[in-house]
Amino acid sequence: MQYDVIIIGAGPGGIFSAYELTEKAPKLKVAVFEAGHPLANRRCPIDGVRVKSCVHCTSCSIMSGFGGAGAFSDGKYNITNDFGGTLYKYIGKQRALELMHYVDNINLSYGGEGTKLYSTAGTKFKTICVQNNLHLLDASVRHLGTDINYVVLGNLYDHLKDKVDFFFDTPVENVEVTDEGFSVSTANAAYTGRRCIISVGRSGSKWMEQTCKTLSIPTQSNRVDLGVRVELPAEVFAHLTDELYESKIVYRTQKYEDLVRTFCMNPKGAVVAENTNGIVTVNGHSYEDPAKQTGNTNFALLVAKHFSEPFKDSNGYGESIARLSNMLGGGVLVQRFGDLIRGQRSTPSRIAESFTVPTLSASPGDLSLVLPKRILDGIIEMIYALDKIAPGTAADDTLLYGVEVKFYNMEVAVDERLQTCYPGLYVIGDGSGITHSLSHASASGVHVARDIVDTLAL
Ligand SMILES: Cc1cc2nc3c(=O)[nH]c(=O)nc-3n(C[C@H](O)[C@H](O)[C@H](O)COP(=O)(O)OP(=O)(O)OC[C@H]3O[C@@H](n4cnc5c(N)ncnc54)[C@H](O)[C@@H]3O)c2cc1C
Repeated sequence: MQYDVIIIGAGPGGIFSAYELTEKAPKLKVAVFEAGHPLANRRCPIDGVRVKSCVHCTSCSIMSGFGGAGAFSDGKYNITNDFGGTLYKYIGKQRALELMHYVDNINLSYGGEGTKLYSTAGTKFKTICVQNNLHLLDASVRHLGTDINYVVLGNLYDHLKDKVDFFFDTPVENVEVTDEGFSVSTANAAYTGRRCIISVGRSGSKWMEQTCKTLSIPTQSNRVDLGVRVELPAEVFAHLTDELYESKIVYRTQKYEDLVRTFCMNPKGAVVAENTNGIVTVNGHSYEDPAKQTGNTNFALLVAKHFSEPFKDSNGYGESIARLSNMLGGGVLVQRFGDLIRGQRSTPSRIAESFTVPTLSASPGDLSLVLPKRILDGIIEMIYALDKIAPGTAADDTLLYGVEVKFYNMEVAVDERLQTCYPGLYVIGDGSGITHSLSHASASGVHVARDIVDTLAL
């Protein structure tokens, strides 16, 4: 079958490419291939009762399907160039921000109206942080929440489904360059496209690596972020989260001068397990609907590691640490901060006696047997630093879940149009290694769609 544009992956990058193409050039024939299920069929079997840990589904419903890794996320759209990716290096800071605002407006008109936009502009917490050797990064954040995010995705799908051919449960196996454009093959058929947008996200990292090798597209190793997810009573961070929702705070450790940062803060949220290429790690989300909120806030504390010579495989390093935690805990490990400091493992009875009630059923254990000393020392130092601006952070009952790993795809060589060395072949979103967030991935999708509309003879 022949298409004008083939999009691989229906995460935010792919969805916003499709959206923009159908808006700006409705006559184009567009196909979207997605390895995972339609939105309505995405369900993670872990219910905490019958299924307690990851059963390694063929297609992980948390990471794959319409909406991509973002479908059950907290729906925090950070409008900033300070974090979430380096899209601005390719398309410029102003354009990147413009596109993030554009995406925000679309989200509002597809069900997100009434959700709150938080901002660090003029906040007193900047001063309080600096006075305590902590640094608050600038951002505006639209918090859709897991529930509204799902509604927005559902509405976007309804809007697109008659304008675009969606192929679900259809992983693309190969992309070949032809005289007319590109040939994309799946298990049962081959399709051609004059243009091809690859937006396969984190879950498509291995496939992306292989595709770049086959097509000789240059790549560069990226960093890996390693750490823990912290969970504590919502009151401890309420003064910050009520005003800012998410605060990205960076701390330089005194011992090693490493940078430790907070990541993905979920006020009144829940900790969740996530499966990337068979490795179970931890993440978190929260709901906009008060009825679904919990009494806890969670956030990650992460340290970045980037290996270059002679060992280049930053992700492999992160994977082996995550595998070690999976080996000891059968999945995610949980430990009370007090137990960690006293050098003892948490046991089921110690967790049961904790005043902070875990929102994820994880195996009580000892994170010091998993995380490298340097990383763990940095995390402990930062917990004490955060305790100065949010007293209670360093409490005995603060829960630490491990490990949290943020894998980044290797960076694919693309130009300012996000086009590879093959004219008409674009790589966008988290799969490109350039973006690591909903807002940047979505913006990259709009960027290439506009480029295609401008350059494709209609
Ligand atoms: C639990 C969780 C919470 C998160 N919370 C936030 C948050 O609040 N804010 C934020 O900014 N970011 C968050 N993120 C990150 C965010 O979801 C990603 O940055 C974003 O989804 C990237 O979009 P993408 O389109 O590039 O890739 P993805 O969303 O990963 O989508 C890629 C899609 O491609 C499909 N695919 C892969 N390989 C193939 C193939 N060979 N053929 C066909 N299809 C393929 C996958 O199935 C997937 O659906 C969260 C992530 C997780 C897992």
